[in-house]
Amino acid sequence: MPFEVFHAESKSVLSTTTGFIAQAGFTHSLTPARNCTFGCSYCYVPTMGIYGGLKPDDWKHWGQFTTFKSNAPELLRRQLRAGQVIYCSPVVDPYQPAEESAEMMPRILDELLARPPRIFVIQTRGSLILRDLDKLVALARLTALRVSFSITTNREEIRKLYEPHCSPIHQRIEVIHRLREAGIDTFATLAPLLPCDPEELAGLALEATERDIVGDALHVRSAKPNGATTREVAFAISEHHDYSVWLDSDFQAEVAARIGRVVNKAGRRFGTGPEGFRWLTQ
Ligand code: SF4
Repeated sequence: MPFEVFHAESKSVLSTTTGFIAQAGFTHSLTPARNCTFGCSYCYVPTMGIYGGLKPDDWKHWGQFTTFKSNAPELLRRQLRAGQVIYCSPVVDPYQPAEESAEMMPRILDELLARPPRIFVIQTRGSLILRDLDKLVALARLTALRVSFSITTNREEIRKLYEPHCSPIHQRIEVIHRLREAGIDTFATLAPLLPCDPEELAGLALEATERDIVGDALHVRSAKPNGATTREVAFAISEHHDYSVWLDSDFQAEVAARIGRVVNKAGRRFGTGPEGFRWLTQ
């Protein structure tokens, strides 16, 4: 997908957390850009509008451009503290396609290396993370660094339907293996859960990591009356391809239970929502 990249100064790069992320135990979120060029069909962020720190162009043209916070390193230099538990990021993927040319994350990692927080968690699905492996290995010596790597389905045709600009599933598994080989503490995060073969997806996640498995269903209004929710594009795709049941909260609970049974049988935990994400902060 073609996209444009902009750079603009921002007032903040670290925010005090609220809601889901705060309940999971994170004290701060770190957001290097506004708008995410992965442009996933279901992305919750554009539904947050102004509350997600977005401008109208962001939520109307989600994924078509992004604006990097050009002064993020300088802001971090002032705002980082030793006790912080930081989630990067609830509103963009830090290794989104535009990051390849922007090279913002290496500058951010340099600041973290100089002033390491207590825990730093990177939430991503981007293979580009391997570009920064040396810095990540160095940071892991100074702080509890965790990578939460998103695997949303085991079925490649589903991945292409809902998140066509993201890496193929097999490539994500390879990235997880490379991160772990380098000694980076890496979780497989099944979020959001797209149409899948639940037992096979659980098996993939178990094979890829040694950690407990984190998950989350696609947000739907029947289960989550307020706040960010699944974008309309994903509802249209689901209806067109006969996957609407995956947006039914009872069905979602059944899928989560099936994944949980496989994970528990392997002697590990499967947790959704703040319960699962809390394991990233412990
Ligand atoms: S990678 Fe995450 S933040 Fe980016 S578009 Fe997809 S769901 Fe949204």
